[in-house]
Amino acid sequence: MKEKFTISLQNRLALIYALFISLALVALTIIINIFTGIVFTSLVKTNIAGKSAEIVRAIEDQYNPMSRSFDTVTLEAMGMYFVHEGYIVTVEDEEGGLVWDARSCDMRECTMVLNDIADRMEGRFGFRGGALRKDQYPIRYPGGEPSLTSVRSGWVPGRTVGTVSIETYGPFFYSETESAFLTSINRLLVMATIILTFASFMISIILSRAIARPVNKSAEAARQIAEAHSGGASGKPIIRIDDRYQTRELGELARSINSLAAELEEAERKQKQLTSDIAHELRTPLTCLRGGIEAMIDGVYKPDREHLESCLEETIRLAGLVQDLNTLTALEWENITINKTEFDLGSLLRITAEQFKAAAIEKGIEIKLDLMESPVNADYDRLKQVFINLLSNAVKYTDRGSVTVSVEKSGVSGSQWEVSITDTGIGIPETDLPHVFERFYRSDKSRNRSTGGAGIGLTIAAAIVHAHGGVIQAESAETGSVFKVAL
Ligand code: ADP
Repeated sequence: MKEKFTISLQNRLALIYALFISLALVALTIIINIFTGIVFTSLVKTNIAGKSAEIVRAIEDQYNPMSRSFDTVTLEAMGMYFVHEGYIVTVEDEEGGLVWDARSCDMRECTMVLNDIADRMEGRFGFRGGALRKDQYPIRYPGGEPSLTSVRSGWVPGRTVGTVSIETYGPFFYSETESAFLTSINRLLVMATIILTFASFMISIILSRAIARPVNKSAEAARQIAEAHSGGASGKPIIRIDDRYQTRELGELARSINSLAAELEEAERKQKQLTSDIAHELRTPLTCLRGGIEAMIDGVYKPDREHLESCLEETIRLAGLVQDLNTLTALEWENITINKTEFDLGSLLRITAEQFKAAAIEKGIEIKLDLMESPVNADYDRLKQVFINLLSNAVKYTDRGSVTVSVEKSGVSGSQWEVSITDTGIGIPETDLPHVFERFYRSDKSRNRSTGGAGIGLTIAAAIVHAHGGVIQAESAETGSVFKVAL
């Protein structure tokens, strides 16, 4: 199969940024160019109109009313100056006779100037549709333009004493200074675009790197976590990533990965703990069994009833332990199914307490009941297991006195039932209280006792109560312990 083309997040981001910024810059440059062109052209058109008016006025000034003629010497000097600026002037008198004509004066210069302008406009600026244009203006004496105020104050427009024709490259043209200015503006614009595009590329790389780095780190961490845990616990410490990012989502991603790592570590720790605990718990009865059987084989012990019963006891303990472990695994790792039914909690407690009567009588302790009708909706069999475990502990760890089983209403609105199993036994040291519900936890006092169990009973009880949404807690006084279950 063809391998799918992939691109790194960093490159993808950099490309997107760069493309976007470049397009924006090019669009901006084009807009600026068009805009300056429009503004500049209208400015140039105004300039040309102004210049034509200035030429007419200057020629008007050269009219001598006495001799009814123009000062041709000055006219020629002015006319040639205008030619250099791109204006080809022809002056005629009132009868239409030629007074002065730039072309007749210097044909070569006129053609050269006009060709220069055409080259500049068409060659350099790509201007199309330009052609020679000719405008005619009357020469008046006295000259000047009739304005509203001048007419009001009794001014009469002067008599027409001649005509001036101005030929230019039209509809407009740029003078040399103007074209130099426009060229430098365009050059600046192009340079700015190049510099900005380059800068935008650099910024794109920096930005995309900043965004991609934490994502890459998170991906790398997730990969390492997956690698470390594929095929079971590796024992390697799981890496943590820095989660102090200013971008909220990146911080959250890093924190999620870190908490995932923490959970995995905890699961790994629990798994190891469980394995070593199970090994430890199995070792004691197995050692006893093995010792007993070997002793019988070697003839140290006789294979009589007493020794065989002792071996049987160990196998029963082992079977119990395996059974408890089974229950615990089901409760801790699988979804506990709670089959709820309506029943009376008081009756369940009475029936359960009944089972311990014989054991209690044997130990010389009393089982007291303080029960009332207490309807609940819960899993009957599983709750029975809870009370069996609590009562068996109470009887087991009490040598003198009594075990009291009571039920009463509790909670803010009296909507809960609280079961208390109180004994007058050895009690639980303050330091052990927070741990008694932990798996395989046994307080030292009982550890040495032959009656000591595996330390799973309370763990199972707690798991069942929690699955019901209830609370279980242990308290200890000088004269015994109290286990309370709120449902
Ligand atoms: P075990 O099988 O050892 O009794 P549990 O989980 O039932 O395991 O109990 C855990 C530990 O809590 C016991 O080993 C014991 O030290 C302590 N414990 C539980 N119930 C009582 C009690 N009623 N009085 C004194 N200690 C208790």
